[in-house]
Amino acid sequence: MTRVVVGFDDIDSEWGGCTTHLTGLFLYHIRSKVRLLDYPLLVRLNPNIPWKTRGNAATALHLDYYGDPRELYELAVWMVEEYTRDRDDWDVKRPGVIVYPGDPHSNPRLIWLYHKALRDVITVDIVRSILDKSQALYHGGRGIIGATAGIGALGVGEDYTFELIAYRRPEMVGKERCLFEDEAIRIESLAPTCTFNNVDWLTGRLAAAPRGPDPVLAGFRGDCPDMLKAYRRVLCEEPSFWVLYRSNQHTDPHDSLLTGELTIYNTGTLKARITGWPRVISGGHVVVRASTDWGEDVDIIFYRETNPLPRIGRLLVPGDEVRALGGVKPYTHNGVKTFAVEKLWVDKVATLYKTMSPRCPRCGSRMKSAGTGKGYKCPKCGYTDKNARSIKIRLSRELIPGVYTPKEGRLGHLVMPRWRSKRTNSKINPPDINNVFILE
Ligand code: ATP
Repeated sequence: MTRVVVGFDDIDSEWGGCTTHLTGLFLYHIRSKVRLLDYPLLVRLNPNIPWKTRGNAATALHLDYYGDPRELYELAVWMVEEYTRDRDDWDVKRPGVIVYPGDPHSNPRLIWLYHKALRDVITVDIVRSILDKSQALYHGGRGIIGATAGIGALGVGEDYTFELIAYRRPEMVGKERCLFEDEAIRIESLAPTCTFNNVDWLTGRLAAAPRGPDPVLAGFRGDCPDMLKAYRRVLCEEPSFWVLYRSNQHTDPHDSLLTGELTIYNTGTLKARITGWPRVISGGHVVVRASTDWGEDVDIIFYRETNPLPRIGRLLVPGDEVRALGGVKPYTHNGVKTFAVEKLWVDKVATLYKTMSPRCPRCGSRMKSAGTGKGYKCPKCGYTDKNARSIKIRLSRELIPGVYTPKEGRLGHLVMPRWRSKRTNSKINPPDINNVFILE
């Protein structure tokens, strides 16, 4: 019996397929020759990677394998090649498969790689050099970046959630999905702290179901695996199988402070002081100029889809202090980089004053300046006061310090709901395979 971790990534494309689906099929194939040491892992990486298809997901299976790891590797490569045979996007995409012997969480390089892959852009060379120093068997192109980062993820002490994914029968892929959205709303309202981001509360639609020719029928997210099983009632289309994944989704694993010059596609938390007034640009997005801790100007953008963040963005004024979790976009305005926000902490709201001319002591009208150093004159009754001064009024602010996120159902894959607390006890008991791979 050998302890191994099998990692996959980039096994999908805009034309169909999905890394998690292949992982489920692979698990089904090897079920009689393995013991699970953990739930299958669904690991989301840097959400700003431009070549991702959807949510930048990789998977990892921590196993005891009753056999030779090379045999497991050959099977994984063969299955990936069969699965992706019809793909016509080979110039830009390359699946990645890894079989890593031993415990990746005792290899500091893999842990470092996972955390870097959440925030930065990594090259294939770095990954190969890490893998070549280990006994890992690997295959493929760019996909090995995510596949390798994924096997270093979710070690002891790291926060996690679950996602229960239902997969479609092959003959159904491409057809309309049959889902009871009302039932999803009912379940999501029953267990709001146990399940999250499954319903778009702005539209009442099921956020858990993708659109298009995807093998995923729906994926339900939350902290309580047993509650997630209640979502089976939402499906009026019979799935072919289910997989229960443990995941870094909705745990803010990318929330680490950015400390140097911003680089395109970097992700993390930006501490900044607002220096400009918000502008609404075409499309309804809101942009506000800010200055970072190290004095770099940056345009913070709140996209319309992240409602209510743009509404919060519109309430910012110069002097406010914020921390914005998000990423650097490849656009600049007059050389100033753009930072898109997924979550916002308003740490300090500036005091806002308005300067006004005084009222006329004789008739009560608002006076007008009589010229520099000449005091004020009443335009109505003609009263003049050479010593009158302008008055400063403190304006009330609608914005209060706190944390702001998009409405649930619209949270970024990694963004933690505002009310959720991090798990501190993260010891995982090896699950029974029949509880994580459910054949219908
Ligand atoms: P899905 O969510 O449906 O699985 P996806 O959004 O995960 O699709 P992929 O097709 O897997 O998209 O493409 C992401 C690609 O980006 C993979 O090749 C992966 O190896 C690579 N990648 C992931 N993170 C990084 C990173 N930090 N730096 C460079 N490349 C990365």
